[in-house]
Amino acid sequence: MPANIIDGKALAKRLREEFSIRVKTLQASGITPGLAVILIGENPASQVYVGNKVKACAECGVRSFRHTLPADTPETEVIALIGRLNADRDVHGILVQLPLPPHIDLRRVLEAIDVHKDVDGFHLYNVGGLVVGDSIFPPCTPYGVQLLLETTGLPVEGKNAVIVGASNIVGKPMALMLLQKEATVTICHAKTKNLAQHTIIADILIVAAGSPGLIVPQMVKEGAIVIDIGINRMPDGSITGDVDFKGVSQKASWITPVPGGVGPMTVTMLIANTLRSAERVAGQQEVLGEWEK
Ligand code: NAD
Repeated sequence: MPANIIDGKALAKRLREEFSIRVKTLQASGITPGLAVILIGENPASQVYVGNKVKACAECGVRSFRHTLPADTPETEVIALIGRLNADRDVHGILVQLPLPPHIDLRRVLEAIDVHKDVDGFHLYNVGGLVVGDSIFPPCTPYGVQLLLETTGLPVEGKNAVIVGASNIVGKPMALMLLQKEATVTICHAKTKNLAQHTIIADILIVAAGSPGLIVPQMVKEGAIVIDIGINRMPDGSITGDVDFKGVSQKASWITPVPGGVGPMTVTMLIANTLRSAERVAGQQEVLGEWEK
């Protein structure tokens, strides 16, 4: 039987509608949530991502403050801008679009962000928080995946979760979140030998490698939940994931499509974190997702 589709686009739409209502509640107490987005250089993909984030903010009633800096901006200037945004009461979240130009030190820039405005969740404090199960802001892509997993109604606890990809922004935090939910977690990466030997035992298979068609049906356990985080632009301009969707959806019980799966959730969780930050400033009780309770 073909897999059920985990519809990220539909969930993102529902969440954004809820967020618009929460924004109105905040506005009634005199606070409009605000997100500052810093883009350095002219990377075309980054420009698209920033555009999507600004658009999503507008859709939910969140103010966005876009700071576009030339590629040769000195690191000190970037850090000075972050300092001003840290102090700005209209700004509840600060995001620095990655990748950065090579002359700018990623760690120094991320560490300059006030942890209470670090809505991407990349500051070392937030990363450390994930290790002990108590981050201020969960990083957006794995956070979105958590909510997508919830829609299946299946528990994560005790399941074999295998993550393909071990980056700091996706694979590793994803692994920590699932560990926190008491899954048995395996992390695979480009140096993993015999990848299939690991993926075949996965009840939950999460793929974030950036390698189109990496996961084929023979690598997937019958009835597995498969989450495809990969976004790969093909020579014909189309977007595809890391999973052979057509083949794997004949074996999986649940699967995310690309596009329309994890992608819309990543931007949505950025709004969620910005809203959460503004609600904390307003002293409102936090609205928590199911998995955070
Ligand atoms: P990255 O390049 O930083 O990390 C890739 C990871 O995958 C590394 O750990 C690498 O060792 C591993 N890997 C690469 N090839 C592999 C292979 N053949 N077998 C096993 N492991 C392999 O990338 P990233 O930033 O983590 O992004 C990964 C993918 O997810 C990309 O396609 C990216 O575009 C996508 N992405 C999507 C979203 C979203 O919102 N859907 C968000 C972030 C990243």
